Amino acid sequence: MPNVVIYARTSTDAQKVRQTGETQIEVCRQLLSTRGGSLLGVFSDDGVSGTLPLRQRPSGSRMLQLCATGAVDALIVFRLDRLSRRLGDVVAELESFCPKPLEIWSVSEGTVPDLRNAGSVIAQAMEFAAMELDVVSERMNRGRDRVAALGKWTSGPVPFGYDLDDDGRLIPSSRMVAGVTEAELARSVFIAMAGGSTTIAEARRLQELGVAPGRRYSRRIVLTDSAQWRPSRIRAMIRNPLYAGTHELKSRFGTIERQVPALVEKATWQAAQAQLGINLAKSQFASREYLVRGLVFCATCDARFAGTTVTSDGWRDHYYRCGGQVGTMQIDPAARCTAKFIPADWLEQFTWEGCRERDAAASSASSFAEKRRVVERMVSRITVMSHGVGRGKTALVVIAWKDGSKSTTSLHRRPRTQSVN
Ligand SMILES: [Zn+2]
Repeated sequence: MPNVVIYARTSTDAQKVRQTGETQIEVCRQLLSTRGGSLLGVFSDDGVSGTLPLRQRPSGSRMLQLCATGAVDALIVFRLDRLSRRLGDVVAELESFCPKPLEIWSVSEGTVPDLRNAGSVIAQAMEFAAMELDVVSERMNRGRDRVAALGKWTSGPVPFGYDLDDDGRLIPSSRMVAGVTEAELARSVFIAMAGGSTTIAEARRLQELGVAPGRRYSRRIVLTDSAQWRPSRIRAMIRNPLYAGTHELKSRFGTIERQVPALVEKATWQAAQAQLGINLAKSQFASREYLVRGLVFCATCDARFAGTTVTSDGWRDHYYRCGGQVGTMQIDPAARCTAKFIPADWLEQFTWEGCRERDAAASSASSFAEKRRVVERMVSRITVMSHGVGRGKTALVVIAWKDGSKSTTSLHRRPRTQSVN
């Protein structure tokens, strides 16, 4: 993971401009959280001209000192002109202070691996940015309401399904993904949800289509990284009223609403919300029954395994867990058993296959109660032997059947099963 620092600069030391500095830092942090890296420091100079060398700025000089240690791999800025209005100056300065070339991550211009080789395109971009900056800070000074009224997108990453036009306004994305436009794909998620789908089904579908959920900060910059579609991400998308045409702009002064192009009909959006509620209610009230409860034992501590539900990151999974891990049985956390969690579906499927192999009539059992009777009649004991630690943990599962035979299988990783909503 690269070591990074964030640098921000505003040219006038007014209260409102300082807010602009905070906005720069905020957006830089978003870029960092998307790309990954460990943050060594945040440096901000207010009321400093872009023509003043970094070493003569209060925070800029401290940042250079940190860079001089060789600990810094990359520098994050909102725009390159935050460092300097002249490319040559900043190149010379970084070169004389830093023992190695720094990578520059610019929210506006993208990644510059080495400023020395950045060439004239970047130089022109910086000059242009310097001219444009005055206009932008002017707008920011007059408040986001006005910017909102102008229709510019000012709220961080561009939502999936959208793009920015030449004036920075939100428009449905015509980017082709998986054979359709990104806007159509986003719309299809709402339509599927309105039709009774789940967030996990939609996350899987997009994942299987090979669609990256990349975050876009401008027309040019798309950050994809290793981001995956997750149910929580689909849920956030479904709940966003923006897709029905109303953008809620949250600011310190309250929520400002403004109209943006809708990707879905209001009725579809509302039906999708309703389905989220239905799915949530289902998952809360549906108590899962555990087919082999009471029959699973831990070889490590002799305790019985019990059924348990684990919810994380929007996914809901059912497991058999060693009772020796539960606080009520073993007060001392250090002494608690660390046996592997056994995915319930996986263990039950393996057990049920064994039942059917031994008694063809078992196949006729359909309800849970019928299946449970078959299991009780045939299974003597299921033993779990855990090995390893952490993610590398594996388990050997042995079923002792009442006919004296044994079945053995091993478990290496746990699959995801069911979503919360
Ligand atoms: Zn145990």
